[in-house]
Amino acid sequence: MKFQIFLTMFKQNQNSKISTTLVDFHCHIDLYPDFERLIQICEFNKIFTLAVTTTPRAWQRNYDLTKNCKYVRSAIGFHPQLVNKETLNELPLWEKYLCKTRYVGEVGIDGSKDFISTLNEQKNAFIQILKKCSDSRNKILSVHSVRSAGLVLDLINEYLARDRGKVVLHWFTGSLEEAKRATNLECFFSINTAMTRTQKGRLLIKELPLERLLTETDGPFIKRSNKSIYPTDINSVICDIANLKNLSYKDTANLVIRNLKNLLTAP
Ligand code: MN
Repeated sequence: MKFQIFLTMFKQNQNSKISTTLVDFHCHIDLYPDFERLIQICEFNKIFTLAVTTTPRAWQRNYDLTKNCKYVRSAIGFHPQLVNKETLNELPLWEKYLCKTRYVGEVGIDGSKDFISTLNEQKNAFIQILKKCSDSRNKILSVHSVRSAGLVLDLINEYLARDRGKVVLHWFTGSLEEAKRATNLECFFSINTAMTRTQKGRLLIKELPLERLLTETDGPFIKRSNKSIYPTDINSVICDIANLKNLSYKDTANLVIRNLKNLLTAP
């Protein structure tokens, strides 16, 4: 069975014929101890998984392990919490790999108190990332916007024209007003179980348009009963969204797949 999956070789940039059943659009697969096995598990279970990376240096190995996958894609990232004066020199490496994948992430800005001291560097890096994505067109970005939603949306609006790339806001915690702005900028939202656990997150999800919803685990950072969640646990967020949106589980799962297809095929 596993072998059959590998008979269907699929290039990262191809996006037709997605026959996935579940979607985990933001997972740090390389941070699990059983990294390689987990890729096989996602493949076997037909879970479209976006393997985000946190530094450009981590990307090559992710790429090597996923380049022939049918369901797992590796995204080239530069996590805002890791951007500072010393690491800014890794941007050329990020740029070097950009042409090898359609997917970018985790990128963005973190304005929380532990990272506010590097805000200028984060902003510079994110602007350069957006500009490069805009130049290459057709990229899909998984964006972090903790305590910086307004600024992140300003920069997306200024540096990434809507027909030049697509943004998925991961674990969005901005206001309803900012969510509306993001919707007008044609952003998608990848929803996780940390969001559905809070009152604010639930209110947000109720307001978000159905056609912009995706699902994510943000594993291994998000835990359940003290254990990191896995892409195979993604059904719990589908259940939560189904409850909040008064849909059945099946309709919600289908909705997310349809949204993924729209995201990947949008002009
Ligand atoms: Mn993350």
